[in-house]
Amino acid sequence: MTDSSTGAILIAAARHAARNAHAPYSRFAVGAAVMLNDGRIITAANFENASYGLSLCAETVALAMVSSAGDLARVTEIGIVGGAMDSDGRPTGTSPVGPCGRCRQVINEAAQIGGRDVIVWCGAAEGDAVERYPLSLLLPHAFGPADLGLGKMN
Ligand SMILES: [Zn+2]
Repeated sequence: MTDSSTGAILIAAARHAARNAHAPYSRFAVGAAVMLNDGRIITAANFENASYGLSLCAETVALAMVSSAGDLARVTEIGIVGGAMDSDGRPTGTSPVGPCGRCRQVINEAAQIGGRDVIVWCGAAEGDAVERYPLSLLLPHAFGPADLGLGKMN
């Protein structure tokens, strides 16, 4: 299931998750919503830290939750939104946000373990703009589990 209605569902879930961003330093709230092949959706927000370098992106938090539940091989799609926080802490903006380089690598872990090209939906905090990319387009020639002898594990 990779149609636009799935993207809209994931973007809405990611927007909801972004409300719980712990982002007092960047003031940039991000939400991520991971869809599994059984239809479940796992959401998370970015989780910053006073030491800055320990901060975790929403996509990484969501995928760590998925992996911790034993479901990494079930990941099919992920929706991401982000935006600068207003004075009430709500994300704003109409430009779609994509995953950072580190998160592309983290998504690739799920993609290779699951044996599928994970679909990435990039949305904004507000508005209807949504972009759809297969991970293989965002991270071509990726290094991953297959390079270490691990294949599809689902
Ligand atoms: Zn990231």
